Amino acid sequence: MFDGVPLGILVGAATVFGAVFGSFLNVCILRWGAEPKQSVVRPPSRCPRCGHALSWYENVPVLSWLALRGRCRGCGLPISIQYPLIELAVAAIWGGMVWWFGAGLAAVAGAVFFTILLGIAVTDARAYLIPDEFSLGGLVVGLVLAALAGWSQLLVAALGAAVGFGLLWLVAVGGTWLFKKDAMGGGDIKMMAMIGAFVGWKSVLLTIFLGALLGSLIFVPLTLAGSKRLVPFGIFLALGAAASYLVGPEILEWYGRFVIGA
Ligand SMILES: [Zn+2]
Repeated sequence: MFDGVPLGILVGAATVFGAVFGSFLNVCILRWGAEPKQSVVRPPSRCPRCGHALSWYENVPVLSWLALRGRCRGCGLPISIQYPLIELAVAAIWGGMVWWFGAGLAAVAGAVFFTILLGIAVTDARAYLIPDEFSLGGLVVGLVLAALAGWSQLLVAALGAAVGFGLLWLVAVGGTWLFKKDAMGGGDIKMMAMIGAFVGWKSVLLTIFLGALLGSLIFVPLTLAGSKRLVPFGIFLALGAAASYLVGPEILEWYGRFVIGA
């Protein structure tokens, strides 16, 4: 479809697209993470402090924040740097995926997947919850993208979703039995089903392993230091999933060669 178009132009276009998606992701994070949950369509973007409705030129990804010097035109109070940072991150994700995979289905799948992972990580960090819109919505998108790639891809994705869901469900049930309290939220379980749909069943195992490893590296010292902080486990699963997606086969091969000796 994009034959003859220089890669630089495609990457640039994907980056601009990404910034716009990032702007929408900000809205999703804020409204799906709110209690009660709010619509991401209505009302249009406004300043959370004074209600000043944003005109189009106050709503341009990254550039508006810079032009306004990070302050609302209505009340003059600071606008969180989270907005331009997420726009930049999603812009980099979309540009990077096209640069890595070339313009095609693989790049779209990777970009959608990483955008959802970022949304989950930030929402989990802010509100300690993983909205179904990201997990279950992402699961549906992941299965559809896999189906577009062919029947065998769809089978791998469906297996991945089942393994991710089933394993984390077992961990949750086992943890509840062991610690006599809920060790893991339902959000994490649904999130792993979504991840499985994008990475397949092998990398889903790797994701859980990496997520648990990262989580304990950070959580155990915190607990020993007496912190009662909740652990947004979704962040660690998101990091594990991103690593599995990009270098999963390499890690598994290394593991097979050096650890199992196969
Ligand atoms: Zn304001």
